[in-house]
Amino acid sequence: MTISPSYRGRFAPSPTGPLHFGSLVAAMGSYLQAKRQNGEWLLRIDDIDPPREQKGVVDNILKTLDGFGFEWNGEVLYQSNRRERYHEVVHHLLEQKLAYPCSCSRKSILEKTGQTKGETVYPGFCRNGPLENLSEYSIRLRCNHELIQFDDAILGPQSFDLEKMNGDFVLQRRDGYFSYHLASGIDDAEQGITEVVRGADLLNCSPGQIHVQQTLGLSPPLYCHLPIVLSESGQKLSKQSHAKPIDSKESVDLLYKSLKFLGQMPPIELMQSNNKEIWNWAINHWQLDLVSK
Ligand code: GLU
Repeated sequence: MTISPSYRGRFAPSPTGPLHFGSLVAAMGSYLQAKRQNGEWLLRIDDIDPPREQKGVVDNILKTLDGFGFEWNGEVLYQSNRRERYHEVVHHLLEQKLAYPCSCSRKSILEKTGQTKGETVYPGFCRNGPLENLSEYSIRLRCNHELIQFDDAILGPQSFDLEKMNGDFVLQRRDGYFSYHLASGIDDAEQGITEVVRGADLLNCSPGQIHVQQTLGLSPPLYCHLPIVLSESGQKLSKQSHAKPIDSKESVDLLYKSLKFLGQMPPIELMQSNNKEIWNWAINHWQLDLVSK
């Protein structure tokens, strides 16, 4: 099989817990989109938030993916090895006055704006210089009302007003850690990812990441947001809520279920087969338009 350089996808788990069925669906959707187009599929570990990470989970994630028969191209990229690059970018953005230091804590923003917890919009209190004198600041990226628009491969045309949605958002936290928007925005572009396929729970993150890319003059990838897997009680499966880890001993059953979840119609006999046969079938029959919105 020749690898076409015209498609490059990725799976980018955070090592905050073992993979669960929702992770499998995201991994599978991105994998099949790539493989169906003879493209590459990269694996990236988003380990930029050590306080939220669990020891030993990276190893567990790699083994699980391998046990489910995923094959990635090239070396795994660890975001923890990219800190120098993120520093460089933040420094450049500060110099260009596209980003600025901010002394506001989450609590003070809530108090001042009367917003309640949840998604907060930052109205730019420190845009013209930090309000308070601190030894450490967070760094925010300036936004504006220019609409961020893209055509999602499943959800169709999307349009976001970042200023209304988030306001200027954090690139680097006061504790020095870099934000997901910054790290993923840079890495997706610099790894040459042509399409980001991930769960629709991250749809609201795409405009911020596109804004990071556009501000840096990098080309944004295409986006494709998959339906989210819910638990029986109707909540999104997540590592933080300790969703049941997937076990490669059950790979055939779970790969089959994941294909069905993605709207595909695998023949029932595949349930008695093995990873290889399931993947062969899936790569040959993958149809994005069967995935529900
Ligand atoms: N690392 C993030 C997570 O595990 C998502 C990465 C992405 O696909 O953009 O939730």
